[in-house]
Amino acid sequence: MQLVHLHSTGRLENMLGSSLCRILRRRPLKVTRCQVQEFTTSPQKIAISKVKEAGLLHSKALIGGKWLGANDGRTLPVHSPATGEVLVEVPYMGEVETNSAINEASKAFAGWRALTGSERSKLLRNWYDLLIANKEHLGHLITLEQGKPLTEALGEVVYGSNFVEFFAEEAKRIYGDIIPAPFSDRRIVVLKQPVGVVGAITPWNFPLAMITRKVAAAFAAGCTAVVKPSELTPLTALAAAELACQAGIPPGVLNVVMGDAPRIGDALMASNEVRKITFTGSTAVGKKLMAGAAGTVKKLSLELGGNAPCIIFDDADIDVAVKGTLASKFRNSGQTCVSVNRIFVQAGIYDKFSDAFATAVKSLEVGNGLHKGVAQGPLINEAAVEKVERHLEDALSKGAKVLLGGKKHSLGSTFYEPTVLTDTSTDMIIFREEVFGPVAPLIKFKTEEDVIQMANDTLFGLAAYFFTQNLSRAWRVAEALEFGMVGINEGIISTEVAPFGGVKQSGLGREGSKYGIDEYLEVKYLCMGSIKSF
Ligand code: ADP
Repeated sequence: MQLVHLHSTGRLENMLGSSLCRILRRRPLKVTRCQVQEFTTSPQKIAISKVKEAGLLHSKALIGGKWLGANDGRTLPVHSPATGEVLVEVPYMGEVETNSAINEASKAFAGWRALTGSERSKLLRNWYDLLIANKEHLGHLITLEQGKPLTEALGEVVYGSNFVEFFAEEAKRIYGDIIPAPFSDRRIVVLKQPVGVVGAITPWNFPLAMITRKVAAAFAAGCTAVVKPSELTPLTALAAAELACQAGIPPGVLNVVMGDAPRIGDALMASNEVRKITFTGSTAVGKKLMAGAAGTVKKLSLELGGNAPCIIFDDADIDVAVKGTLASKFRNSGQTCVSVNRIFVQAGIYDKFSDAFATAVKSLEVGNGLHKGVAQGPLINEAAVEKVERHLEDALSKGAKVLLGGKKHSLGSTFYEPTVLTDTSTDMIIFREEVFGPVAPLIKFKTEEDVIQMANDTLFGLAAYFFTQNLSRAWRVAEALEFGMVGINEGIISTEVAPFGGVKQSGLGREGSKYGIDEYLEVKYLCMGSIKSF
């Protein structure tokens, strides 16, 4: 049996929590991995039982207001990325269940669209209040199934809920238009109407926010939805759905199915009832959905991969640059589509920045996200760690050097050390593809022209960041970067009030903000003729 040495008491406390630590300190400091598993799983069990007591731990899907299993009874385990434990089994559904969810969403559509914006607004507001009232439970659920540190998970609950509040307000402001007609006997009126049933397919990295960002806008517009959360993180989606039911959102307006992703996706794409697909995930799946949507000519919003550059100019405030880059790179252990992927540092500030940045990265505590003080949780699964390892191997074989980290963390197979690489170059995979992990590659550059060319040298165009104190440069660079979102002296840019989305192969459409609701509305033109003048 493998032996694990628990050296310092500080480390021990972070791994196990202070009370367990007291108990364990009475034992010899050398314990087996089995014993560590036993102790480290306890906080998970406590957290999950609290969520259960609150009635927010569902193991069934929601279709037409009913909690249902798969027709054939098949289930799918949901694992904790930190310990590998099975948290709950959820239904493994396919086409039949998805079609029944589409049917329920279609039936609910007429009633839901007929409500006034103000009535829908009140129900969304109720949902928001319940989400916030259950912030702790939802936060724990996110950490349990997704792995991010609890403080980040609680932040996601607020961020995700804010979309519901924002679109509750927008529901009352879906304005049409009156256009001056070029003929004296006509009037031209523009109405905005809900597109219909929406299919929403969401990823695992933000188990709550990626759902609310879509469905809150859809519901405000008067659409109903079939949501397919990631099979890796369905529990938060189900808890949010439970709260939507409690808020009074009518049966069938929100349906949640999960299981066989391609089959569920195919059923959504094939249906003539589903008028809109909204997707956040990989570019590869996004392209499949785009092709699939052609069959029934559906509206489409796609929020796909990124390859975010972060540029540190010589004239940057170094503390601001380190703080912003650290937050954008290491939030959610680098598993966000707006995570910094390539860090360009100008020659004059390179040594100073790399030292300060490495010192900051070194201070990040790695561990189970439920434990106090942890800033870096596990990656979502072993496949994610293997991808990081492939990127590292490629970079090192092409001349990159490890300044910090550079290997799996001793905590277990889903943990990776926060890593800083130097001497990276544009021929490395890490320059071309999202690493989606805690690896920060530094690239030295000389001129503004060079760095803009390198930053734009990618098929993706989601987020970009740069740090400078020169106002003219700030405008010049912001306008030259071919990305949908640009953080200037700021590493965390997501908010419900701003339009989130990308250009190039990063996707289509925008989420959040006043623009987000347009994705769920059709424009209808009314021409009123034969109007007699005095
Ligand atoms: P990631 O690599 O980040 O998990 P994916 O694009 O694979 O990104 O997953 C995002 C979402 O898309 C998840 O809900 C996943 O289950 C779903 N998905 C994966 N493959 C398909 C597919 N062929 N059709 C529909 N949805 C899919």
